[in-house]
Amino acid sequence: MNRDRTRILALLRGGGRFLLTSHVNPDGDSVASQCAVRLLIESLGGSADIVNSHPVPRNYRFLPGTSRFGIRPPKAWKPYSAVIVLDCGDARRASGLLEPRPPIPVVNIDHHATNPGYGDLNYIVPDACSTAEIIYGLAVSLGVRPAGGLAEALYTGILTDTGSFRHGNATPRAFRIASLLVGTGIDPSRIAQAVYESVSFETLKVLGETLAGLRRSPDGRVAWISLPFATLGKLASPTESEEWAGYPRSLDTAVISVCFKESEPGQIRLSFRSKGAVDVAALAARWGGGGHRNAAGATVHGTLGAVEKSVIDAAKRHLGQP
Ligand code: 5GP
Ligand code: MN
Repeated sequence: MNRDRTRILALLRGGGRFLLTSHVNPDGDSVASQCAVRLLIESLGGSADIVNSHPVPRNYRFLPGTSRFGIRPPKAWKPYSAVIVLDCGDARRASGLLEPRPPIPVVNIDHHATNPGYGDLNYIVPDACSTAEIIYGLAVSLGVRPAGGLAEALYTGILTDTGSFRHGNATPRAFRIASLLVGTGIDPSRIAQAVYESVSFETLKVLGETLAGLRRSPDGRVAWISLPFATLGKLASPTESEEWAGYPRSLDTAVISVCFKESEPGQIRLSFRSKGAVDVAALAARWGGGGHRNAAGATVHGTLGAVEKSVIDAAKRHLGQP
């Protein structure tokens, strides 16, 4: 792993043009890490194009360079020295860019423990709170002192992947790096406002409707919400509901929460969240998914009602309930 890290540093130092991507349905860490790596590459004399399968969620558009994120795969691979995949635990989720495998080196930089190391070069740090934390370490090794937009992007990745420093991954190191970044003069309140307090009127109403449909198991330990296809269609983009899986977990009695999203008729995206030692990455793995202990996901096929029933039954069994 360390040998790959050294090679990745050499590749970034060497300049040239890179293609950056991340997982489908980008979240704060994936958008922020891509912005940060592009700034890093540019500060070293290279350049980078960014391609994702979905548009940047509205609340992350304040990050530097997000207006230049593309959603079309490249016409040719030749101009690129490598494709750098950030924050993506599974090659099948890499915005379609690894299917089929491109004819250029694949660099895999991630913090998901379930990442199998699908790259030609792999730098996976499961202890890192976020991919942004890993990028911070690379920047330091490259002699780049984060400031301005780079510091804002790295801070945003750490802020969002730790759930605003509330999750188990809010380690002393995460706080230390965040403190160093804030010390460079960035404004954490402005970032928090952009990320958490810039929801459109229509989206907030749909959230209200969705929460009105909150359900729980008889003992309250499993709580869930559902977004049928028609409801998702009311949002400007499905990515506006990216963080909603956290709401049912905020129920006092809940230890596992699930958000069911009918992304297409007959296709359901599962977002799991948990509290404490309860491992939902292991639960998501039952449907070929993965993620982190307290936040994981998977995609399954079936009708919303049938999928809800089988997943909630499995979640109860996961907790050792009858
Ligand atoms: P979310 O519920 O926010 O979509 O995802 C929670 C976490 O699980 C994220 O770290 C995300 O990358 C990961 N994740 C979500 N869906 C999948 C999946 O289908 N496969 C894998 N390997 N990870 C997933
Ligand atoms: Mn992440």
